[in-house]
Amino acid sequence: MDFSLNENQLAFQDAARNFASGEMAPFAALWDEKKIFPKDVLKKAGELGFMGMYCSEDVGGLDLSRLDTTIILEELAKGCTSTAAFISIHNMASWMISSWGSQVTKQRWCSDLVVGEALASYCLTEPGAGSDAAALRTTAKIDGDHYILNGSKMFISGAGETDVLVVMARTGSQEDGARGISAFAVPANLVGVNYGKNEDKMGWNSQPTRAINFDNARIPVDCLLGEEGEGFKIAMKGLDGGRINIASCSMGAAQACINLAQVYMQERQQFGKPLAAFQALQFKLADMVTELVAARQMIRLAANKIDTNDPDRTTYCAMAKRFATDVGFNVCNDALQLHGGYGYIKEYPIERFVRDARVHQILEGTNEVMRVITARRILEPGATDAIR
Ligand SMILES: Cc1cc2nc3c(=O)[nH]c(=O)nc-3n(C[C@H](O)[C@H](O)[C@H](O)COP(=O)(O)OP(=O)(O)OC[C@H]3O[C@@H](n4cnc5c(N)ncnc54)[C@H](O)[C@@H]3O)c2cc1C
Repeated sequence: MDFSLNENQLAFQDAARNFASGEMAPFAALWDEKKIFPKDVLKKAGELGFMGMYCSEDVGGLDLSRLDTTIILEELAKGCTSTAAFISIHNMASWMISSWGSQVTKQRWCSDLVVGEALASYCLTEPGAGSDAAALRTTAKIDGDHYILNGSKMFISGAGETDVLVVMARTGSQEDGARGISAFAVPANLVGVNYGKNEDKMGWNSQPTRAINFDNARIPVDCLLGEEGEGFKIAMKGLDGGRINIASCSMGAAQACINLAQVYMQERQQFGKPLAAFQALQFKLADMVTELVAARQMIRLAANKIDTNDPDRTTYCAMAKRFATDVGFNVCNDALQLHGGYGYIKEYPIERFVRDARVHQILEGTNEVMRVITARRILEPGATDAIR
């Protein structure tokens, strides 16, 4: 067991760190304030391969492992957590298209997606189907050589600015549950695809979030990903990786906050001493670092479980997502506390990291749903010994 990063991983980490500090961090506050979606920067990220990190080489991707991907996303999130999180969603949706798309679909989208010339959204959540995603009601009815889409999606990241939508819709009946769901790669500018307003959010302001309404939108049958009825399985496979990617973005936010807090504690004087001289605050920083290291290792373990196709990968990803996004948020929040009143004002980036990291506890499956997934497995005979 070797816990050190190899030469390639160090090189990617370095490239991502430089990109984050040069192309993202200086502008993150502006993107947040003005709600700017930095498409030009996403294209630049594409030049480095960061828009198709785990897509295979035959479609132009970097074909990196999931472990490698977590290392890159963490660094990007130090620059702008919200933009890195969009990159993570784009990578997940692009990978789904490249893995299950028909020849026509792959040819149409992949070469543009992997370089950030085209952007992708992931459309699972609906107004009435959030945590209970398998209850979704959007329908895809076959009509000759087309499917006709009807229904609504909610909270879709990038919607209105992206080029292709990975949409989970029902080809079977409502009673079929998850087995009646199929996945599609839907051109975002199709007639009958309508977008709601950009939601006014607490954080994640550098990427739009919109509802989408499908009103008799016609898509050719070759937009189907995989087979009919496989959509929910495909959506969940995407989310295994998506969850540790988002968790890695939490690590980046938390690492950036710890770095800032450590410096601030040495500079800021109260009671005639630097904050760093107070043992209560030293212990706080020690706990923050301890938990961050634990969370990062758990993400890497879960990434390894995907890379090795472990049968328990979903459980490990759920545990890692729950733990790391909770730790990530708490560390950002503790760093804010260590900055006192200055942490609360926008001149310092801490409050933005707190706002951006908060939603990671909610999306890609809430942290309660992560516990549902984990508990379901743990209650099986012998599971407490197997999951370790
Ligand atoms: C900024 C943002 C971006 C998003 N981007 C996307 C996107 O790109 N694509 C996409 O498909 N979705 C996206 N989502 C949706 C997100 O995945 C959902 O919000 C999330 O899955 C929760 O669904 P819900 O909001 O309907 O909450 P609900 O499911 O209504 O849950 C409400 C509360 O009840 C809890 N709860 C529900 N069921 C249980 C249970 N069985 N046991 C215990 N607790 C339970 C939940 O954990 C939560 O705390 C995004 C959301 C946000 C806020």
